[in-house]
Amino acid sequence: MPLAEFALISRFFAPLATDSGALSLTDDACLIEENATCDLAVTTDALIEGVHFLNRDPANLIARKALRVNLSDLAAKGARPLGYLLALALPRQVDEAWLEAFAAGLADDQRTFAISLLGGDTTATPGPVTLAVTAMGRVPRGAMIRRSGARPGEAVFVSGTIGDAGSGLELIKDEAGEGPEAQFLVGRYRLPTPRLGLGVALRGAATAAIDVSDGLLADLGHIAEVSEVRISIDAERVPLSGALRGLRGSGLDTIVRAATAGDDYEIAFTAASERDALEAGLRAGVPVTRIGRVESGKGAVMIDAAGREIPISRPGYSHF
Ligand code: ADP
Ligand code: MG
Repeated sequence: MPLAEFALISRFFAPLATDSGALSLTDDACLIEENATCDLAVTTDALIEGVHFLNRDPANLIARKALRVNLSDLAAKGARPLGYLLALALPRQVDEAWLEAFAAGLADDQRTFAISLLGGDTTATPGPVTLAVTAMGRVPRGAMIRRSGARPGEAVFVSGTIGDAGSGLELIKDEAGEGPEAQFLVGRYRLPTPRLGLGVALRGAATAAIDVSDGLLADLGHIAEVSEVRISIDAERVPLSGALRGLRGSGLDTIVRAATAGDDYEIAFTAASERDALEAGLRAGVPVTRIGRVESGKGAVMIDAAGREIPISRPGYSHF
């Protein structure tokens, strides 16, 4: 059996992360001290054609998604993005129209998020299009929201709605993207919304945070592991969009799929004060829902209406 993604990282790469700012490779971004008042959060994510996007996907959306998944990591840390680096590996037959659309997508999002391209690298590859974005952002000294701060007795929250993107991807695969609900879900997959305003509003209010990329349950499992707590989610509290409920219903099966699908790029976080958490959502104009609690113990679990733990075979996406 191949090594699981996180076992691989902790065995081969964590020993190399000797600087304390690497956070032992257990967080969404590393932490670099910039000056007396400011820290930098830095993160990188790669996207591969055929894995993260399809050859026929519009180039401007591929570009914006690559940027946004990185901005989402910064959002979860409470950082304000300042810029990014772009590494591109392109098939030899570079299609100029593709590049034109790709660059236009980046230009659009640079305006939206007030950031600049800072550098990168361009190579040819015999394989599929591969791109890696490294994004950096500023956070006041000591204010970065880590994965490690959750404590028993606190409540667990998530922004927006969960499961839209996972369902959108299924619709794309089934070539069933017709109708307004399906189009909304496909849009949530193709173009995530990094919750940057919420991340900033959560400074000082959230005790731990992560962006939901692998799956709500898997990602809360990361907080549970690093914080050394147990996280318990009430299935019926997981927020589902009207479009998802319209297309898939709101039964337990839909909820379990939503909470294990990934690609949501919402922020899941813990907080000691429910009022502070909800107020941060109001300030940022993003819905925030209380979905569970932090307990002592291990792991992240989902509980049904009768209080029973729901057996889950696969809490989220893993590459290996
Ligand atoms: P995220 O989903 O927030 O982008 P990942 O799940 O991709 O985070 O990665 C988990 C952690 O492992 C992060 O801290 C990331 O920096 C680190 N990591 C992953 N792959 C590598 C690698 N090849 N070398 C160093 N660190 C890595
Ligand atoms: Mg992340």
